Parts: sequence; structure tokens; C-alpha cells
Amino acid sequence: MLSERAKKIKPSPTLAIDSKAKSMKASGIDVISFGVGEPDFDTPDNIKEAAVKAMKDGFTKYTAVGGIDALKDAIIEKLEKDNGISYKREEIIVSCGAKHSLYNIAQAIYGPGDEVIIPSPYWVSYPDQVLLNDATPVFVKTYEKDSFILRPEALQAAITKKTKAIILNSPSNPTGLTYDKKALEGIAEAALKHNFYIVSDEIYEKLLYDGVKHVSIASLGKEVQARTIVVNGLSKSHAMTGWRIGYAAGPAEIVKAMTNIQSQSTSNPNSIAQKAAVEALKGPQDFIGKMLVEFDMRRKYLVSELNKIKGMSCITPTGAFYAFPNTSKIYGRSFKDKKISSSTDLALYLLDEAKVALVHGEAFGDDNYIRLSYATSLDEIKRGVERINEALDRLE
Ligand SMILES: *Cc1c(COP(=O)(O)O)cnc(C)c1O
Repeated sequence: MLSERAKKIKPSPTLAIDSKAKSMKASGIDVISFGVGEPDFDTPDNIKEAAVKAMKDGFTKYTAVGGIDALKDAIIEKLEKDNGISYKREEIIVSCGAKHSLYNIAQAIYGPGDEVIIPSPYWVSYPDQVLLNDATPVFVKTYEKDSFILRPEALQAAITKKTKAIILNSPSNPTGLTYDKKALEGIAEAALKHNFYIVSDEIYEKLLYDGVKHVSIASLGKEVQARTIVVNGLSKSHAMTGWRIGYAAGPAEIVKAMTNIQSQSTSNPNSIAQKAAVEALKGPQDFIGKMLVEFDMRRKYLVSELNKIKGMSCITPTGAFYAFPNTSKIYGRSFKDKKISSSTDLALYLLDEAKVALVHGEAFGDDNYIRLSYATSLDEIKRGVERINEALDRLE
């Protein structure tokens, strides 16, 4: 018999679509995937070499649970240099990916009776991590016409005595949009006034376009920093999804609790990957610029093509590697006898009929949209868009 907790949880829907697409591919079907949530670039060689060296040097044993000092120091340096925030070692924890850091946070601060505010559309794991810790996700809708930025009055209306935290994600997965300083100031003010935590997932910090600059909410002042847990990692910035290194920076008391929790679950993150992560943070950073040029080209192409498709409209994303077009005008049309009335119907139709994989917006809490990742070659993007167009033309 499964626990009540286990019954509440669904598998990550983005991984589910990806796995269906992969199994179609494995059976010989030529599927074009806009479903992936990871850079299609290989991890830079200097980082791989640091891992090889770590292995050869015999750096293959358990390390300190919350990460080696050299890595914590590299993270501290990064947070100071890039974000203008100072931390001490006891305020840093390295985990097995940013998702794991977020999970440790959830275990350390959410509990029965707590409410956690999640602006929607949201990244798929936030609600389930809240549910896994017997707390209640409180969704606050954001709108395309506001560039998916949380409205202050909507936030205000969602705050209760039970509010424990808000989870922010800028640049955002799935919308690709970013919060500016003014919007962050409003949220920080509310958090201080009503005494709740800010969990700030900044994993896409390095992937910004059109001159947009990243602001970490923790940089808005000492008081705000004391209420904020910043989450970041190397998966997206350094094409290191498989290495499983992420980290969090926050108040020592919370980081200590997270470290205890980690000590009873995974122990330290992989020793070899930690050495690689030191190189990723301290070595040359030109890789990121090269990756960005490529992403930017694909972004412009994909967004302009999506806007040409009848029934679709796509806001221009300024970060991450996702386009999030509005597809609600397509709903109601049908193929043979089947009516397409949701993002899920549309995603399944496109997978079956166009052999194109993408993620239904419903997975992110907004059924009026679909998410396309452009972490795939320009050539694939071109072919994929053509197929989507053809398949949509077949709808009545
Ligand atoms: C990819 C992603 C993560 C997880 O990153 P890992 O370090 O690979 O665990 C966290 N948050 C968001 C929004 C992501 O898209």
C-alpha cells in the first residue's frame, strides 16, 4: 500500500512527453523534439578535463555533505561578483542539482498548514515539492499582457497568515520572461511585511537576450537577503545537466537544516562533479557567450515563425530557451472526429500527426499555451515549424 504522500505526486510531465518522444524515436519514427529542457551543447572540455583529473587524483571518496570548501568558495565568489551578494560558507549548500536544492528547501521549511505561493505558469516541480511536504500550493495567475509578471494586488490577495514562502523563477521556465528590479522590490516588500520566505530559482540567470540584466532579489538589501534562499546551478549555464550539481544560498539556520536532510538522503553530491563545477565557475566563461549567440538566433527565428501560424501568437521571451505561444484560438477546431479543446489535446495531436514533441501548457498551470524549447538545432526548428504548420492546416 502506497503512502498518502506518494499518491499525491505525478511524474514530471515534461519528462513524460520527452520519454514518449524518445520511445517513438527508438522505434524508428523521425520525431522532432521541442520538448527538452536542457542545452543541446556538450559540456566544455576544460570542465570535463577537471573531472578526469579528479578521478586520476583519486578524488573519488565521500566529501563533506554540503559540498567541498573549494566549491563553496567558488559559489561565494560567483554570488559576490555576478549578483552583488555576500555569503559565508555556512550559508551555502551544494546539492545533486538545483532541483535537489529546491527539494531540500521544501523539506526544511514547508509543513502541514503552510501555504506556498506559486505564480503560474510555473515550473512543474514546484507544486509537487510543496505537496510532498504536506503544505498547500497557492497559485496566483499571471498574464501575458503583463509579461507574466505577478501583479502586486494579486500577490496581496493571496497572502494569508499561513503564507510560508513564495517561489520565484526569473528568467522563467516556461515563459522565458524575466522580472525587473521594480517588480522584485514589490515582492520583497510584501515578504518583509508579512514575514514569509522568498525561494528564488535563478537557474537561467546566464541565459538572457536583448540586453536584459539579471537581478537577484536577494541583492535588494540585507533584510531581503535574510528572507531569501537563492537557488542556482550549472545545468543550464554550463550545459551540465547530467552532472547533477546545483546549490542554494540562504540563512545559515536553513542551510544547516537542508544539510542535515541531505545527510540523511543522498549524502554529498558526486565528488568528481564537484571538482568539475569548481572549474565551471572559475575557468573561462566564453562558452556561455557562444551558446547565447546560437540560442538568440534560434529564439528570433522560432518566435517570428510561431507568430506567422494561424491561431498562434507568441510573446518574445527575454531569457532561458523556451517559447510559450498562446494557442487558445486553435481550441475548438477538430481533426476527423476529434475535437482539440486543450493544450494537452494539441500536444498529443502534434506528436501523433506531426511527429513533433512539445509540452502542453496545462503542465505548467496554463492551458492556453504550449511550450517549445529551442535547445535544438536551427535546422530541426525549421523542419519542426513546417510540420506544425502542415498539421494545423489539416484541422477543420
Ligand atoms: C532545469 C531546471 C531546474 C533544475 O536544474 P538541475 O540543476 O538540473 O536540477 C530548476 N529549475 C528550473 C526552472 C529548471 O528549468
